[in-house]
Amino acid sequence: MILLNTKEKDLKYIMHTYGRYDVALKSGKGAVAYDENGKKYIDVSSGIGVNSLGYCNDGWVEAVTKQAGTIQHMSNYFYSEQASNLAEKLCTLTGMSKVCFGNSGAEANECAIKIARKYSFDKYGEGRNGIITLKNSFHGRTVTTLSATGQDVFHNYFFPFTEGFSYVEAGDMNALKNAVNKNTCAVMLELIQGEGGVNILDKDYVQSLVKFCNENDILVIVDEVQTGVGRTGKLFAFENYEILPDLVTVAKGLGGGLPIGLCMCADKLRDVMSPSTHGTTFGANPVVCAGANYVLDTITADGFLDEVNKKGAYIEEKVSKLENVKNVRRMGLMIGIELESGNAHDIAVKCVENGLLIITAKDLLRMLPPLVITYEEIDEALNILENTLKEND
Ligand SMILES: *Cc1c(COP(=O)(O)O)cnc(C)c1O
Repeated sequence: MILLNTKEKDLKYIMHTYGRYDVALKSGKGAVAYDENGKKYIDVSSGIGVNSLGYCNDGWVEAVTKQAGTIQHMSNYFYSEQASNLAEKLCTLTGMSKVCFGNSGAEANECAIKIARKYSFDKYGEGRNGIITLKNSFHGRTVTTLSATGQDVFHNYFFPFTEGFSYVEAGDMNALKNAVNKNTCAVMLELIQGEGGVNILDKDYVQSLVKFCNENDILVIVDEVQTGVGRTGKLFAFENYEILPDLVTVAKGLGGGLPIGLCMCADKLRDVMSPSTHGTTFGANPVVCAGANYVLDTITADGFLDEVNKKGAYIEEKVSKLENVKNVRRMGLMIGIELESGNAHDIAVKCVENGLLIITAKDLLRMLPPLVITYEEIDEALNILENTLKEND
């Protein structure tokens, strides 16, 4: 029998839905990862904003392993202490009213879409089900969340897509008002478009949008799958915008590396969903929730989010001065780096070769470092970035 290595097995047996960097990661601690050959990397991507406390945070590992050895799963027909605690914490911390659990960002958005449509159906009857989303958004990979995603490249192959979505330019209030009609039930948006290139929406625009929607009983769904859980320097990005959405979806960073997605709703939606209108086998899993509880306790501890903001400002200041950097777009530790020249993907590949795990968003380099990254790790990362950008000149 021929022995295949990790990469060869991957290429042979895993469907090719991702172009991967040429690295097989094996272990990690904090913001440092090691590959199968023992090579060291500084990671400023956190597995796309997932490892919010970095790799294998001691307290998180303890919380998760302890729960795995206590009760690892129960069906949603039973009460779960970890899930109840997590839901209580989230509602208390945000002013939202209830949560509905799932396992991923796309599922969380599916849930929000279902809640918005049911609210409208219950109150106005059939037909009022239109949802407006923003151009350049990203909301997930299921057939419905692809439909919600306001980018034509995502609307291929898998026809027919879910009906009822329309798209408007971000930042244009008139375009939004013109797109609204009697069948509009919700507007769904990311406050910072992550996959779309770290586009930070204007605060005045977001506030007018929310005011307009509130006046017309159109629900505001904020997709915080990438921006949530401390990423932008507040627990949720909507706090930076001083708004209270009707529905908020959360996933990536919440579990600290385990799959979780959930939808939180405001008080007026607390009783929209009833038994058998939604469900999930794995959602609210106690091991995952134990990890999420640990993440939430850590990032809401005194001073933690101030540090996130300080580290973000420190990175922005340093990166802005690097050769070939045109502009830095940032909120907290969500960072997009606009380049003067060169292909962002090619530069990211070189960074990885040089020991820096970094990702891209459209034609930008993107950093979503673990929220616990140290200044030493930041300096090491920025050194590699600086040298790589010079090489590329
Ligand atoms: C990643 C992401 C999603 C999809 O999350 P999955 O867990 O991959 O389903 C949805 N919305 C936003 C804003 C995201 O960044």
